Amino acid sequence: MAYAYVTNHIPKSTPANRRPGLVMHSNTITIHNTGNASSTAANERAWLTNPANNRTASYHIVVDEREAIECLPLNEAAWHAGDGSGARSGNRTSIGIEICESGNYAKTLDNAAELVARLLKERGWGISQLRRHFDWSGKVCPRLMYDGGKWTGWAAFKAAVEAKMKPKEEPKVNEKPEKADRLEAIVKVNGKELSEKGYVEKGITYVPVRAVAEALGAKVKWDGAAKSVEITR
Ligand SMILES: [Zn+2]
Repeated sequence: MAYAYVTNHIPKSTPANRRPGLVMHSNTITIHNTGNASSTAANERAWLTNPANNRTASYHIVVDEREAIECLPLNEAAWHAGDGSGARSGNRTSIGIEICESGNYAKTLDNAAELVARLLKERGWGISQLRRHFDWSGKVCPRLMYDGGKWTGWAAFKAAVEAKMKPKEEPKVNEKPEKADRLEAIVKVNGKELSEKGYVEKGITYVPVRAVAEALGAKVKWDGAAKSVEITR
């Protein structure tokens, strides 16, 4: 894995009801940008339990260039979709992922795509179960994918997730590697091709010694006990 996955849940006692403890049966994943160009995943996680934070806003996972931090259990509701608390609201049905804007953003995006691909696959979900924050409440979020309303970054992100969901091609198992590594060699002695063939393997040419020696007028003796070949002219 190219990034660390850290579980560091905020307590249920966190102020402003940021961890309401409502059981969630999710069926989508919602993507956000943090909206803060300088904060890391660790900063964002710390903010959730910072006493100065009085907003009822939370999410499940925040990801940056080096780690993903799970801040709330994925089967509990969080306040990230901006659409209230109805049974079908994003807040009650969707896993919220915050993508940091700090540091190496290309690496962060790659980590996010990797993370989302894994979450979708684990649940047997497809790319159609991805949502923008925008889809729930109309907020321009994830803002770095907005692109003046064209959302080309969003299309690119979904394509990246889809690519990571494709099963890696299995390396082909070679059934007869010894044959595949060998090149057959025609053996000629004084211009006459022998019916026996030789072969080349790892740069060494092997020839049928009896056929070659006898074609050269030599006598070949195989000593089975000594496992040796004797050639005499
Ligand atoms: Zn958002």
